[in-house]
Amino acid sequence: MKRFFKKSIMAMTMASMSVLGACGNGKTTAFVGDDTFTTPGGKTVIFNLFKHASLEIRYDSISIQVDPVVSLPPETNYATMRKADIILVTHEHFDHFDTAAINALTDSNTLLVTNAAVRAKLKRGTALSNGGRLSVSDDITVEAVPAYNTTPSHQQFHPRGRDNGYVLTLDGFRIYIAGDTEDIPEMSQLLNIDVAFLPCNQPYTMTPKQLAHAARLFKPRFLYPYHYNDTPIEQVVDLLKDEKGIEVRVRNMK
Ligand SMILES: [Zn+2]
Repeated sequence: MKRFFKKSIMAMTMASMSVLGACGNGKTTAFVGDDTFTTPGGKTVIFNLFKHASLEIRYDSISIQVDPVVSLPPETNYATMRKADIILVTHEHFDHFDTAAINALTDSNTLLVTNAAVRAKLKRGTALSNGGRLSVSDDITVEAVPAYNTTPSHQQFHPRGRDNGYVLTLDGFRIYIAGDTEDIPEMSQLLNIDVAFLPCNQPYTMTPKQLAHAARLFKPRFLYPYHYNDTPIEQVVDLLKDEKGIEVRVRNMK
């Protein structure tokens, strides 16, 4: 199993999101089937979509867990899964941050990347602020991007500058995990996104209409609505049916 050496990790904070897309090479990627893709270099990326905001990305021999949470259904037994090479936590709300799940997935080689508030609670891991970037290895980069509410009466849920979305670049294959956010203007700076996860519930994140607007800001090739609870998510498919470049995939990510 390939593991990372901590010393190879280099963190630096970028002043803005203008660097987004710097790793995108413009090459197209191939769709393999279900939730499996190949990178421009021919490596495999598999998405295991557990629930709500929790998913695993398998890349080559690497396991990347995003917002792992035990306490929400369906049951996810992280203790029986392989240890994570990377864990990404977007923010400190219970449906994204769960110490039990993180502990079950962590060994001495696990790289934990969080926002500052989660870092302060856990007292370990690497905190990235919006615009922060981590070069994990030659072919893996993590960028933290803004995630916040814009609707005046909702801004207290996710205040600007506190939480993270993440853009993962795996051998040129670019994945955007939005975290809890509305359709913020910074999304228009996202470049060459192959797969995007966008949230869709009220009052915390977006309406289907906002989600469709968000998708049009950066046009991912594949769009997975997630974090949608009881939102009538088929509305997203309908709202984007004329966007031929965006394939919407609805999975059970309530
Ligand atoms: Zn939240």
